[in-house]
Amino acid sequence: MSRAALSVASECVPLVKTGGLADVAGALPGALAGQGWRLRTLIPGYQPVLQRLRGRGEAVWQTADLFGGPARLIAAEAAGLDLLVLDAPHLYNRGGSIYLGPDGLDWPDNAERYAALSRAAAEVAAGALEGWRPEVVHLHDWQAALAAPYIRAQGSGGPGVLMTIHNVAFKGDMPAARRHALGLPEDGFTPEGYEFWGGICALKAGLVYADAISTVSPTYARELTTPAFGMGLEGVIAKRSDDLYGILNGIDTRIWSPSGDVHAPRFSRPAGKAKARRALAEEFGLTPGDGPLCVVISRLTAQKGIDLALAALPRLLAAGGSLAVLGSGEAWLEQALLAAARGSDRVGVRIGYDEGLSHRMFAGGDAVLVPSRFEPCGLTQMYGLRYGAIPVVARTGGLADTVIDANDAGLRAGAATGLMHAPGDAGALGAALERLCALHARPEVWARMQRNAMKHPVGWEEAAADYAALYARLAERAA
Ligand code: ADP
Repeated sequence: MSRAALSVASECVPLVKTGGLADVAGALPGALAGQGWRLRTLIPGYQPVLQRLRGRGEAVWQTADLFGGPARLIAAEAAGLDLLVLDAPHLYNRGGSIYLGPDGLDWPDNAERYAALSRAAAEVAAGALEGWRPEVVHLHDWQAALAAPYIRAQGSGGPGVLMTIHNVAFKGDMPAARRHALGLPEDGFTPEGYEFWGGICALKAGLVYADAISTVSPTYARELTTPAFGMGLEGVIAKRSDDLYGILNGIDTRIWSPSGDVHAPRFSRPAGKAKARRALAEEFGLTPGDGPLCVVISRLTAQKGIDLALAALPRLLAAGGSLAVLGSGEAWLEQALLAAARGSDRVGVRIGYDEGLSHRMFAGGDAVLVPSRFEPCGLTQMYGLRYGAIPVVARTGGLADTVIDANDAGLRAGAATGLMHAPGDAGALGAALERLCALHARPEVWARMQRNAMKHPVGWEEAAADYAALYARLAERAA
């Protein structure tokens, strides 16, 4: 008999995704099923989610008023996931981005939208669903974090609560006055509770009231306790270091499979990449020559170090490399990338979000660049490994935990899988790109790195075992 856990997330692959959080939320249930845990995943009923259900599913809980309108939980299976969808039209039935209004700013009622998700999680935790009660509630990022104080306020005997930080940069700050309307316990509005610089910080509430905290790589777990990375929450996190875990994400190796990809030319050995590379160059209108064809698939933000890649680009091009970029984000970065590509047959840029193209880029690219200033885990370097697209990464967070640098020791041991450089430093990135081009010109060394990369374990097996062990500890403590 499997044990019951509730995973609560604001996005989940393949239903709705803006970033890596969705990949993780979508993969965890499958990964943990093999460890004896049945996860149900609670997500908001955004338009595309409800469209996907097409009226299927069954209402298993309802209320006349959830922060300004009626709401119900629909239990449904979709895409192999056991879902609880929070149908609350006044909060989620709107077009556009899930987090941002048409003006590009956060929806003004995001506090209520995600407090509602959290409130629904707390109801399920308290036994609102007939015949099903989770032993563990797993909260992802600030959007689910208020469930921790709501569950705590229900008193003892509830489930164990795990708060996972996918990115501490998104904290869920809300005006202090909202705490009454959100039903947050008044005695928690203190520096030891959910108060943060005079306002409410949803993520802090999760960090304070959860039974354990995890984040998505061991290095980021350490970094989070320092001022350079903790974004003001380092003290709160450091105080809980006995309950802090770093568990490296995996990737879905069925979807991300060079030999079984539905979007890209297939291959099973590095030599087979040539066809995918030709197709990619053609798709971007590039003539990459013999140098490495590098790819970037990313949100275009300062966090991701896209400005650093632009600054280092001349050195890549001078060393014989070329670059294809897929992403969207901050306007100045989009403009600068488009300007760099104008008139060039060795720089190509696509602004937008395109899942299929991202697959073809990992398949056809010789290298994938991830020059992030900070990176909780990072997924694209793992896709790169899987497809033999050598990752060139900043030495930070999960990037530092996944790549073995092609330094002298790494090469001599025949273990190298990629290249690392100091984070936040365009000069160091430029040097790494020149090193990349030099390695690419040595076919035997390059082929060895590609083989190592493609063999490097990137699936969910290890993480699933770690999460299962943590769930079991939490359930025991809660009992
Ligand atoms: P983050 O969650 O910080 O954005 P991650 O590396 O953890 O970064 O996850 C990003 C995910 O989004 C990866 O699956 C990546 O392939 C995907 N992605 C990012 N930008 C695009 C894009 N423009 N088109 C397609 N996929 C993208």
